[in-house]
Amino acid sequence: MAEFDVDLFVIGGGSGGVRAARIAAGYGAKVMVAEEYRMGGTCVIRGCVPKKLFVIGSHVHDEIEDAAGFGWSIGQVSFDWATLVANKDKEIARLEGAYTSNVEKSGARIVKTRAVLEDAHTIRLATGEKVTAKYILIATGGAPNHGPIVPGIEHVISSNEAFHLKELPKRIVIQGGGYIALEFAGIFAGFGSDVTVIYRGDNILRGFDEDVRKHVRAEMEKRGITIITGRTVAKIDKHGRDFTTHLSDGSSIASDQVMFAIGRHPNVRGLGLETAGVAINPANGGIQVDGWSKTSVDNIYAVGDVTHRTNLTPVAIREGHAFADTVFGKRPVQVDHATIPTAVFSQPEVGTVGLTEEEARAQYSHVDIYRTDFRPIKATMSGRDTRVLMKLVVDGASDRVLGCHIVGDGAAEITQAVAIAVKMKATKADFDATIALHPTASEELVTMRTPTARHVRQAAE
Ligand code: FAD
Ligand code: NDP
Repeated sequence: MAEFDVDLFVIGGGSGGVRAARIAAGYGAKVMVAEEYRMGGTCVIRGCVPKKLFVIGSHVHDEIEDAAGFGWSIGQVSFDWATLVANKDKEIARLEGAYTSNVEKSGARIVKTRAVLEDAHTIRLATGEKVTAKYILIATGGAPNHGPIVPGIEHVISSNEAFHLKELPKRIVIQGGGYIALEFAGIFAGFGSDVTVIYRGDNILRGFDEDVRKHVRAEMEKRGITIITGRTVAKIDKHGRDFTTHLSDGSSIASDQVMFAIGRHPNVRGLGLETAGVAINPANGGIQVDGWSKTSVDNIYAVGDVTHRTNLTPVAIREGHAFADTVFGKRPVQVDHATIPTAVFSQPEVGTVGLTEEEARAQYSHVDIYRTDFRPIKATMSGRDTRVLMKLVVDGASDRVLGCHIVGDGAAEITQAVAIAVKMKATKADFDATIALHPTASEELVTMRTPTARHVRQAAE
């Protein structure tokens, strides 16, 4: 008789868990996956995918506005939020089905229930059943923070609820200055809501390149989004269907919805981690793992948002895959977390890979900056008041391109391709040797010849 019921038990059927389960099953392991909500996890059900569908939908507004300059007269237009939500739900249900069947086709078994650890080799299901496993993978993801509990917090929605609102809010207040706040600000504004973003610091997108932060803010403001910085939400009052959001400086804003997008926390609570001996990383509250995604317990691993390393879907997938290769494929793989490209699907979009100017100047003694901002060709005819930003950060000593930052239409698509060059350690000379593709916005990346700034740090005496 086998020592354990299964070779691998995966807790969580999201990006990381699904990939690990399928690859491990492909290596011949007997695999069981527990999912307490919907197969596909955050990205598919209430993250990247529905968000991108909303972004695409809200962008149609621009196309309509821009059409006149190209000779189109578009009659009366209208937008129906309920149709958008219903069609999005249909697509998400299709994807959930595809995820389920792909896992099953791989030979892994799905149990639709909550699972927690009983000890290092035993999982307890909410059904009461117990399963023993040689290896356990924790891939339980994360959840929205509510932040400090302010009076009226019960009226506040997170991104989870934003995907299922019955009506499009006419006015919405969004607290936060990161990915989700800015993406939803663009979505709601595109569909016609009056949007106010409240951010506690001096400018949105902390951690991004300073030029990017300034450019995105200015462009969002041109689109009519109000961005209030240096303030937080202190209290929310509800009167009938309306809300009054009181800010830390005593001012207040009326709206139909209030949303917080103030970060996410790893799903570690109530998982039985203490009883199994799985340690938490005190620095970030996620499950502590080594370079192999192994926890403090030898046969228990953790991948994705629950480890709170880089909370992006492709990273969770890569970590899940590397775990399965290492443990079941006899092919040890460690994930390289350096130079991960990322995009904020705000409007305008941000694409970034590698070091910001500030990071490069802290790490390298010679840093050359190539920066341009220009009116995109479409705007010359549409009349839209908008500019694109492109910036390369280069090590002046080795000529290596350390970072690339883009704000404008297509920024994410361009960045995915540029990320290959940056990851390959391409030099500015390699970029220059590449013939431009005309007329595009991204040709600027291979035609910027003269540094716009050159920073040289003197050696310490
Ligand atoms: P998840 O995908 O969250 O999966 C965890 C799963 O575990 C969930 O399905 C959960 O129900 C289940 N679970 C939890 N506890 C248990 C338990 N005890 N028993 C059984 N099941 C359990 N990333 C990008 O790269 N690009 C984007 O554009 C992007 N957009 C996003 C937009 C939003 C609004 C949000 C919220 C996130 C977005 N992300 C994006 C981040 C991305 O969704 C996550 O990084 C990714 O889903 C993490 O995958 P994961 O496998 O770690 O966890
Ligand atoms: P972010 O970390 O991106 O942004 C959180 C924002 O909330 C920051 O502006 C932060 O300010 C602010 N904040 C944090 N705590 C408080 C508080 N107590 N009061 C007021 N403001 C506060 O988190 P998100 O929630 O936007 O998204 C979570 C993660 O999901 C992202 O970091 C990313 O990893 C992933 N994601 C990725 C997307 C993509 O790839 N396109 C899209 C959506 C999510 P400060 O900067 O000052 O700390």
